[in-house]
Amino acid sequence: MNSSLKDEPLLIIISSPSGAGKTSVCRLILKSESNIKISISSTTRDPRQNEVNGKDYHFITKEEFNLKVENDDFIEYAEVFGNFYGSLKKDVNLLISSGNDVLFDIDWQGAQQLLQSNPSNIVSIFILPPTKEEIENRLKMRQEDSGDNDDITTSRMMRFKDEVSHWVEYDYVVINNSLEICSQEIISIINTERKKRNRQKNLVNIVRDLIS
Ligand code: 5GP
Repeated sequence: MNSSLKDEPLLIIISSPSGAGKTSVCRLILKSESNIKISISSTTRDPRQNEVNGKDYHFITKEEFNLKVENDDFIEYAEVFGNFYGSLKKDVNLLISSGNDVLFDIDWQGAQQLLQSNPSNIVSIFILPPTKEEIENRLKMRQEDSGDNDDITTSRMMRFKDEVSHWVEYDYVVINNSLEICSQEIISIINTERKKRNRQKNLVNIVRDLIS
């Protein structure tokens, strides 16, 4: 009888330029993959109309954020569009210890920090929008839905070019022509990564049994 060894959890980073549909893609992935849980970030940004504290983000003040930085509570954090965002070590560790793979919806700065600290079990995926027009439309729609003002949308468009330039830093790049197809492509990537020989801890036992 094999003594079963648990595979290393995957840390799955998904980044994209703002408005490429990353949050919707992440939702679909979480819906279909019960052993992947999202790391809910802390942010100093104001909640949008449809956002729920503790579900979409932990909305905290700048003072609270700074305190967490001082206490080294974040596994990564960054300033994005003038607001601060960070992933809490304790939340991530809790998800991992419950046997989950962890999904990070974070920007390129956070991705770089995670890659420096924990490269072996990270899978990094960058989502591109199909066209620039599509991004403009999505940002405008978000502005109408959520009460973002014109300035925010314009500054996000200006950052678009800079954000796209980071695509070369990721293991995989997918184009979001359709939310369903894009999320399925990412799930396939994750399943393939899980099958990597050095990630399957139990293989040694299985092969030993097979050849004994
Ligand atoms: P939004 O304000 O539109 O929700 O997010 C703005 C950007 O911040 C997105 O690219 C999002 O992925 C990124 N972001 C969200 N949470 C985190 C985080 O914890 N760390 C980092 N580095 N970026 C984050």
